Amino acid sequence: MVKYGRILLKLSGESLMGEQQYGIDVNRLNEYATQIKAVADMGVQISIVIGGGNIFRGLSGASKGYDRVKGDQMGMLATVINSLGLSSALTAVGQKSRVLTAIRMEPIGEVYSKWKAIEAMENGEVAILSCGTGNPFFTTDTGSSLRGIEIEADVMLKGTRVDGVYTADPEKDPTATKFDTISYDEVYERGLKVMDMTATIMCKENNLPIVVFDMDTPGNLEKLIKGEKVGTYVHA
Ligand code: UDP
Repeated sequence: MVKYGRILLKLSGESLMGEQQYGIDVNRLNEYATQIKAVADMGVQISIVIGGGNIFRGLSGASKGYDRVKGDQMGMLATVINSLGLSSALTAVGQKSRVLTAIRMEPIGEVYSKWKAIEAMENGEVAILSCGTGNPFFTTDTGSSLRGIEIEADVMLKGTRVDGVYTADPEKDPTATKFDTISYDEVYERGLKVMDMTATIMCKENNLPIVVFDMDTPGNLEKLIKGEKVGTYVHA
């Protein structure tokens, strides 16, 4: 039995770097592909949004003098590079996938629509939704909230290198404790950095729960799908 029939998995671009300082670590990518296939084999419908921070971020580009809109477009193209990399890794482990793009760029991928994503998932393919929202001044966290709501996902699973939401940054404060569950209001009141504000509000208003979990521990994704206690459940 699976707890979630349809998921939106968000992976940050940074997580694809593994131990590297930049770009894609092939071993990490293959490890993610293996975890994703295991869950697809359980019959779960999967859409994935990947960030681009391992390659380029518009905001940090702007601080170096890049035009913000062009920088954000560079960031969105970075998500396409990561999406193609993941799609290729999924093919290598025997899992079908389809890259859809929020910005028209055939033949790299078909233009995204809710129905194409659902068609792909119902066909047993993993739908990889690239370019975030397709607009500058947004993030892929907002892109994944938007897509998760559109495709009527049961939950958004936010894979990070930390195993949940803590009272403080556990990498800096050893006294920080982890929440098993927390509401979006409490995340806001405590000023916790789970996602950016736009993404958080979209999830809250549209009643999309998220689970923040450590995707770098093999098997965690499968445990989550089976309903085992992994990560922090954030609810409206
Ligand atoms: N981006 C954008 N619009 C979107 C999503 C992303 O302009 O809807 C750009 C933005 O410049 C962002 C970059 O793409 O910094 C990479 O995405 P993000 O920073 O969310 O990646 P992550 O932090 O998850 O690696």
